[in-house]
Amino acid sequence: MSPSPHPQRRYRTGDQNWVRERNLSIVLRYIWEAGEPIARARLTEISGLNKSTMGNLLTQLQAWGFVREMGTVSMGPGRPGVMIDIDPDGGRLIGAEIGVDFISVVLADLKANVVWRRKVETNGLARQQARVIELTEGLIQEAIDRTRAANRRLLGIGLGLPGLIDHATGTLLFAPNLGWSHVPFRAMWQRFGVPVIVENEANAAALGEYMLGVAQHVEDFIYLSAGVGLGGGLMIGGKLYGGVGGYAGEIGHMTLAPDGPPCACGNRGCWETFVGPTAILDRIRQAALDGHTSLLLALPEVNGDVSAIRMRHVFEAADRGETTVLHALDEVGRYLGIGIASLLNALNPSLVVLGGVLSLAGPYILPRAQREVASRALSAARANVELELSAFKFDACVMGGVSLIMREVLNNPTGWKA
Ligand SMILES: [Zn+2]
Repeated sequence: MSPSPHPQRRYRTGDQNWVRERNLSIVLRYIWEAGEPIARARLTEISGLNKSTMGNLLTQLQAWGFVREMGTVSMGPGRPGVMIDIDPDGGRLIGAEIGVDFISVVLADLKANVVWRRKVETNGLARQQARVIELTEGLIQEAIDRTRAANRRLLGIGLGLPGLIDHATGTLLFAPNLGWSHVPFRAMWQRFGVPVIVENEANAAALGEYMLGVAQHVEDFIYLSAGVGLGGGLMIGGKLYGGVGGYAGEIGHMTLAPDGPPCACGNRGCWETFVGPTAILDRIRQAALDGHTSLLLALPEVNGDVSAIRMRHVFEAADRGETTVLHALDEVGRYLGIGIASLLNALNPSLVVLGGVLSLAGPYILPRAQREVASRALSAARANVELELSAFKFDACVMGGVSLIMREVLNNPTGWKA
């Protein structure tokens, strides 16, 4: 007889411990999703568990520090009801993002309230990988020191990166706009002594919107984020869709024009070369060089220097009605709508969330994008779809980092017990 290919493998069956672990997760998740204190009697009622089982589960969750009793409230005739809520001090979670020109780190409590944050610009440093990682580690250490000083426990670090991730090892495989490849973040950060989850920045942001932002309870939606490039996160059936290798969602690299401008990925005419901030700035700088945007060039921070134009200046000129700038943003809306129409046809989501720079440009690009969607997408595919701006704007990814850890704690509180 040949040896079994998996001699050590055991299949987890539904024994009593398994049932208890599942119930602890379900009850904790329910309390967390309620977002406010909930009566113990109500938990018992909706769970269908008997009173003593529920009492036992809540005692356990309380002993681990995840929930707390919030006093009593009158529930009509009879005894007053005990209220249960998530204990915000039951743990701290770190969300981190390394962008092309910044690093952002937040520290959140168990109710996802941000208790500390730090963001540093890394303009021109991106290619100095070791320096950027060192800076990030410094910020994370600061968050850890604060957690220790407050005598709280750290539950984990969720990191969002603008590139392809190997989820099994927590390794950044390739980030075209950073110029980085094969960086084993999880292995490197084992020294922090807590779980580290690494995710593509748009996927992380999509999860953040799903758990904490505008996409709560929306099971099928697309998150589109413009940082330097254009990233996408696909939530399908309440799960981030990763594809066979976990690389799905790179919708910024769909070809829109076969002979279009070169893209950082090596292709030409990718969607992001039409709607990414780099594309917007290139278009507007060219218009400035051609002498079409006097107002923009006259802004004190720009002072006639085309290379000094940043997105904030573009919005300032748009707010003041500069025609050329409004026209350029309208073009972005056009290409945004063209791409979204194709995605609606392919995936039929109920929501498209626009994040990053797109969330700021909303007033100038959304009307045109919506017109393009209306004229191009199949009517059935666009019938019930909403276009919304991210709840977290530039914080979407770090709140996604917090959500990456939160999701695991809620799925498996037993694994995180004190
Ligand atoms: Zn590309």
